[in-house]
Amino acid sequence: MEATEGFTDLGLSEPLLAAVAAAGYETPTPIQLKAIPLVLRGVDLLGCAQTGTGKTASYALPIIDILSGGIGKPRMPRCLILAPTRELAQQIADNFTTYGANHTLRQALLIGGEGFSLQEAALGKDPDILIATPGRLIDLFERGRIMLGGVKVLVIDEADRMLDMGFIPDVERIVQTLPRIRQTLMFSATLGPEIKRLGKEFLINPKEVSVAPPATVAGTVRHAMILVDAAEKRAALRDLLRDEAVQSALIFCNRKKDVDIVAASLARHGLNTRALHGDMVQYRRTETLAAFKQGEINLLVCSDVAGRGLDIEAVSHVINFDVPHNPEDYVHRIGRTGRAGREGRAITLATREEAEAIDAIAALVGGEIPLTTPEGEPAALDAAPRERGRARRPRKRRDEPRTAETKPARKRARKAEDTEKRPSRQRTDGKQAAEGRRGRKPAKQGAAQQQPREDEPVTGLGDHVPAFLRDPPPAIPGAER
Ligand code: AMP
Repeated sequence: MEATEGFTDLGLSEPLLAAVAAAGYETPTPIQLKAIPLVLRGVDLLGCAQTGTGKTASYALPIIDILSGGIGKPRMPRCLILAPTRELAQQIADNFTTYGANHTLRQALLIGGEGFSLQEAALGKDPDILIATPGRLIDLFERGRIMLGGVKVLVIDEADRMLDMGFIPDVERIVQTLPRIRQTLMFSATLGPEIKRLGKEFLINPKEVSVAPPATVAGTVRHAMILVDAAEKRAALRDLLRDEAVQSALIFCNRKKDVDIVAASLARHGLNTRALHGDMVQYRRTETLAAFKQGEINLLVCSDVAGRGLDIEAVSHVINFDVPHNPEDYVHRIGRTGRAGREGRAITLATREEAEAIDAIAALVGGEIPLTTPEGEPAALDAAPRERGRARRPRKRRDEPRTAETKPARKRARKAEDTEKRPSRQRTDGKQAAEGRRGRKPAKQGAAQQQPREDEPVTGLGDHVPAFLRDPPPAIPGAER
């Protein structure tokens, strides 16, 4: 099967290869090439790989084959995957659903911040695979809902993040309840001394595999950003498509919903375009991709997941309709142009609200990306909104009662897991940073921070300055300044 070339040599079963092909993956990523054969051999593994490198499939694919070759027992899950955040756990579960499409393995997702009843019901269906955040797993374990004595494969994903969030004591507790004879896979974006120590604690004679973060931009790509207002993006995109010598372009949106909207809008304006995203049925995806590859359409509006699997030689332009939340996605996206020594052009429509994501991209690619107005004048990201946000943050009072920061790390971490609060130490790499930003609502968050404490006297306006006082008044047409 052409689509799975490269995957066929890794030792995976036919049904799995079919699922991989259906996911649109054509070649294994470096971590998949290295890890899959080792996991299939049953050895322990310490994997140094970031989110965005395809690390989930590097363990999920072989695990599916390992489990489908064995026999499960009622109420005895055979695989446990621990992830630091509910979002990551959810993504892992989604990946297992995709890759396991041709198998009958059952899975249960156990994450904080949700009621227990559905998760308990899922546990009642004898899942083979548990995908869990540590706090919720312990809660369910303490309620007597889970037996972990049948676990044959343990995955500790994003171990460095677990460490940052104070989850390691929970992980240690969980590991103590597992059989000693098992296969353990631990993944981390970094391999610092503490992670190595944990490796010694959790793994037996592990093989180490490492892949570099995908952070290099080909020298053949010229990239630029255009500062626009969110409401003007579609018009700016059309202008761009008219002005630039666009032979073929991939236009990336952050959300699938926007992929459809942007594609429909461009089509209404007579442009030769179609949408491609992960919610489309496979035959439509294949058909759309073929139409783009054959030049029947020259503009493809797509999401990251759909864009990842694309291997098209000659795309003249990559246009980011949105600044990607995850800086690695920027590199992946613009890597679709400037391939095989050809000149490529990458243009990003950016709004001021996306300043943080732009900074993260600049940090990852190692330099500022030229920013202009739609007219081509040099532009600067106004630092004011960010500084303003900082200035509005309530000052810490000396006589403040004990705060969350003084509570034991474990309690704090558990709370973070349940309430989706982000930990204070943040990575700027990988999906976690992206997810944090995605959920960020600056205005609201600011408001929450400004809530006066009940025991605090409020003087004047306190820390809160209403927006109408803070912002300059709107210009009145015709009025003198
Ligand atoms: P991960 O690092 O596991 O979060 O994967 C990052 C993204 O890459 C996910 O959207 C996967 O669906 C996608 N992906 C994983 N493996 C491949 C592959 N071999 N080819 C194309 N995309 C992939």
